Amino acid sequence: MNGAEPATQHLLQPRPQPAKLSIVIPMYNEEAAAPHLRSAIQAFGRTLPNALELVLVNDGSTDRTLEYLAEWAASDAAVKVLHLSRNFGHQIATTAGLDHATGDAIVIMDADLQDPLSVIHQMIGRYREGYDVVYGQRISRAGESAYKRFTAWAFYRIMRAMVYHRLPADAGDFRLISRDCLDAVAQMRETHRFLRGMVAWVGFPQIAVRYERQPRVAGSTKYSLHKMLAFSWTAATSFSTLPLRLSMILGALIGLLGLEEGTRALLVHFLGGYTVPGWTSLAVVVSLIGSAMLMSIGVLGEYVAKLYEQAKGRPLYIVARTFNADAGVLPKSEPSNIAPVHLP
Ligand code: UDP
Ligand code: MG
Repeated sequence: MNGAEPATQHLLQPRPQPAKLSIVIPMYNEEAAAPHLRSAIQAFGRTLPNALELVLVNDGSTDRTLEYLAEWAASDAAVKVLHLSRNFGHQIATTAGLDHATGDAIVIMDADLQDPLSVIHQMIGRYREGYDVVYGQRISRAGESAYKRFTAWAFYRIMRAMVYHRLPADAGDFRLISRDCLDAVAQMRETHRFLRGMVAWVGFPQIAVRYERQPRVAGSTKYSLHKMLAFSWTAATSFSTLPLRLSMILGALIGLLGLEEGTRALLVHFLGGYTVPGWTSLAVVVSLIGSAMLMSIGVLGEYVAKLYEQAKGRPLYIVARTFNADAGVLPKSEPSNIAPVHLP
């Protein structure tokens, strides 16, 4: 139950600047944004006192993103490129990048520079105070449609109120996490991934850094309405069984309605009324019950489908090719707490 458990108290332990910072960036058809990203990152790298590693994941782009990344990797050994065999989606692509990041602190960001790189300095400051998760919280979203702003606003409110109250509001995947936190998240190999929820779930000390979200530097959003709906649904159903319970409640409410209609029909019958005109209400009740049942079965089916996909135990993603990186860091398909058996 995701009830109101009190936030755990942590004693913050100050720590030094991370010796190596990793930045993980999933990229899908970002050929327009990639050159901007490259110059921004290069300028940012010069302001850092520590080593910088880039993990760029080409999520099955159909444009020239991969070509650009390959060329970038050839000119800079600190740029690792993972080329996934097809489009696996933002959350999985990010997971692939996280699996290959070797830094002491790891930043997740988008390729479109909507999240300003300068914020990372503040994140590192918080990391040094001892926080393990520093998430970017948007004060405003410049250059995004009212529709996008509204759906995002509603998404965080509904998720927090009904599904997972520990989820920070208005925080996307732009965040810095410590190595310890990443190691914990990396053990969670669930197929249906809602990364920010998973990071909140592992429960290290976390804090927000507020920033203004910028318009996309180039290209257009890669989150179609369909992808956004699928994302919200995964977020809701991978973190909570509330939708299952909601279908029960819906069923109970419809049941009450049926009881009321049934009682009414009986009363009218026994009090000598003319009952045939009740056909209309009968039809209404039958269709209401039918729809409630179908909805409940549908919700149940969603969970069964998730169980089925998880039970297949497929790898989360397939790396087709790498540049400056070792493809060998494959996702574990078994839980890591199963110790290997050594025969005498
Ligand atoms: N992205 C991805 N795979 C996808 C969709 C998006 O790797 O299937 C990447 C995309 O290239 C970008 C990030 O995920 O770096 C966020 O996408 P986008 O900026 O289009 O989303 P928005 O900011 O509009 O929500
Ligand atoms: Mg974006």
